[in-house]
Amino acid sequence: MSNFKTNVKTILELDYSTTIKEATTIQLYNAVSKAAMQTVNPEEGIQAKGKKVCYLSAEFLIGRLVYNNLLNLGLLNQFSELMSENNIDIRIFEDIEDAALGNGGLGRLAACFLDSGATINVRLNGYGLRYKYGLFKQYFEDGFQMETADDWLKCGDPWSVRREEEKILIEFKNQSVYAVPYDTPVIGYGAKTVNTLRLWQAEPLENFDFEAFNDSKYEKSVKERIDAEAITSVLYPNDNTDAGKKLRLKQQYFFSSASLQDIIKNYKVVFGNDFSQFSSEYAIQLNDTHPVVAIPELIRLFMEQEGMTFAKAFKIAKETFAYTNHTVMAEALEKWWVKLFKTVIPNVYKYVVMIHKALLKELKSLGISEEDQKKYYIIDENDLIHMARLAIYASHSTNGVAWIHTEILKNDALHEWYEIYPERFNNKTNGITQRRWLALANMELSGFISDKIGNSWITDLDKLKDLEKFKDDKAVIKQFGDIKNIKKRQLADYIKKQEGIEINPEFIFDIQVKRLHEYKRQLLNAFSILDIYYGLKEGRIKDFNPTAFIFGAKAAPGYFRAKGIIKFINEIGKMISEDKDVNDKLQVVFVHNYNVSYAEKITPAADVSEQISTAGTEASGTGNMKFMLNGAVTLGTYDGANVEIVQQAGEENNYIFGARVEDIEKIKDSYDPNVIYNSNPRIKRVVDTLIDGTFDDNGTGMFKELYDSLLKGASWHKPDNYYLLEDLLSYVDAKLQANKDFSDTYAFRRKCFINTANAGKFSSDRTIHDYAVDIWKVK
Ligand SMILES: *Cc1c(COP(=O)(O)O)cnc(C)c1O
Repeated sequence: MSNFKTNVKTILELDYSTTIKEATTIQLYNAVSKAAMQTVNPEEGIQAKGKKVCYLSAEFLIGRLVYNNLLNLGLLNQFSELMSENNIDIRIFEDIEDAALGNGGLGRLAACFLDSGATINVRLNGYGLRYKYGLFKQYFEDGFQMETADDWLKCGDPWSVRREEEKILIEFKNQSVYAVPYDTPVIGYGAKTVNTLRLWQAEPLENFDFEAFNDSKYEKSVKERIDAEAITSVLYPNDNTDAGKKLRLKQQYFFSSASLQDIIKNYKVVFGNDFSQFSSEYAIQLNDTHPVVAIPELIRLFMEQEGMTFAKAFKIAKETFAYTNHTVMAEALEKWWVKLFKTVIPNVYKYVVMIHKALLKELKSLGISEEDQKKYYIIDENDLIHMARLAIYASHSTNGVAWIHTEILKNDALHEWYEIYPERFNNKTNGITQRRWLALANMELSGFISDKIGNSWITDLDKLKDLEKFKDDKAVIKQFGDIKNIKKRQLADYIKKQEGIEINPEFIFDIQVKRLHEYKRQLLNAFSILDIYYGLKEGRIKDFNPTAFIFGAKAAPGYFRAKGIIKFINEIGKMISEDKDVNDKLQVVFVHNYNVSYAEKITPAADVSEQISTAGTEASGTGNMKFMLNGAVTLGTYDGANVEIVQQAGEENNYIFGARVEDIEKIKDSYDPNVIYNSNPRIKRVVDTLIDGTFDDNGTGMFKELYDSLLKGASWHKPDNYYLLEDLLSYVDAKLQANKDFSDTYAFRRKCFINTANAGKFSSDRTIHDYAVDIWKVK
């Protein structure tokens, strides 16, 4: 590895006839990546001996691989030397596109899991889809979200290897295509273990027949190519909503079937036709319901190709599969119309019916009445196939992703299943990898921590607890605060460059970044800012520490209300920036195109982390963990992993407000937001800005729609379905308390410090270890 620098130079010369100084950024990126790739075998994970875990996920939100891989390979220093020898800024690759093959938290979790698996030496291989276009890129025009395609491959994909010879035939009702694997090595920290991320690309069976010009055969071949490539052309941009689209089902079946056929093929090389060892050789984790069609598909492959009985195939499937639930919200639970399912994969439908019949038999044997059986139906009376039910019934493990979420699954959302299969339910609180989210994203804080307690936290995050002995050491807290100020200045510079907006780094940085969704309540944050704005104007609020409210969020392109919220926040920002009475105290900035690389800049710079979802709606959250690890206080509801964050770091070091799950349970049947609206002038005033002409939505009707959703209800939702008005005043109180506490710099930074010191639990190394022990039985 000592010749890494020479290899980069040689590759530049051979591939591009150029030198480091002359090379373009993309050439340099490809050469550096290729030189690093020469040190690993991308297929190591798939070829490895012993039990392997297959993580099936429709999304892997990887972000930029190059720095992470250099870090984990131990090449970051050589790379930095090489760059400085040539007077090149090591941040040069920040122009390289993110691999954004995911929407948000669920996809980013999959990426963190891969990093942790390889680092703690679990054979964890990822299987997914190689979308040509990832999550759309976002920009603003007059405050409205606009979208463009994410052509991430235009910089090249030097971290993957195409394995043409391992392609797999996939058959739909009226179409057959190949799934061609692209393998990316997943390099653990220290590079002891290299696992594989195998992403499948759809291609036609035949190559273009150039001979057959002017022939109907040519036309047919063009059509086949277009239809095949469509399958992996683009990522669906919906986060936490089920669109129920035909192409989506095709994507799901495509990568599930390809992965299973690949696994069976590799299994048979070792074990031949003896399938008795299958579930000891493979564990398959289903990341949400997107790959659940793999269950009937495995049974189909076993019965049709290996001559197994249903009973035997079902037993192996149950032992092999485990399912992770990510949501309890109705609009996100995947269901397929039987009719659609049958037009795409009729051969698989037969096996869904078999599983459904086996379920009915089992329910009957458990003494459950025919009426009560209905709530378990995999195929219900309206001809909908319930994928979560299929997954719970035909696997051995169902896990939630934070303590409170799993409790809700057991006691409410999936209670009937918990009653009959309590042993299948377990919790695995999500986590994040500290390599990306601290070691790389915040080198200043990393250096500080290693200086104080050594660097073993990089692979053992619980070690951060050793920092606690400094919690009353004013000099140490001062140093810690100085680092936060450096990160705030860096973010301010970056925002200046990206957005053309200046932010004063002395302001409090109060940050909410995550997908735009009604349940995440960015609109509540907007209302609180307006209430503070009016409070400052009227003199009701005094001694306010200047604050920059920073937002980042993409709205699904078809999600009208979410887009309305973006426009509304941008309008507030504009009004405040033009108002000389307050613009020395308040600022609202909505950064464009929030993605993993932006998150790496934003999370280290926050003073306040906004985690304000309606209690009971955010399964876990992982953004909250990134902020905590980097030393921010959480301003949040008692929801998702926030519960565990304050359990670890102390409620006194965070700002928890609002209705809890049990409070909402009590009020939900009688809740009338109109009562609150009519009885509280402050609330009425901020809500009325949606309709009283304070702001202009350019005649789109967006703001009126938001207003109606709060007071009249919209779509199938009740008025104020997410309890914004219920929580608004307690939220503003908590926000102003945090603002006031900021005046005592030492006390505030001490809270931040205690958060960092207690973030150990939220390493995805811990999460993966727990999956490995409890579910996969590989540790
Ligand atoms: C971590 C992360 C998320 C998840 O954020 P939540 O606040 O947990 O919803 C979404 N998008 C990106 C780019 C992330 O890095």
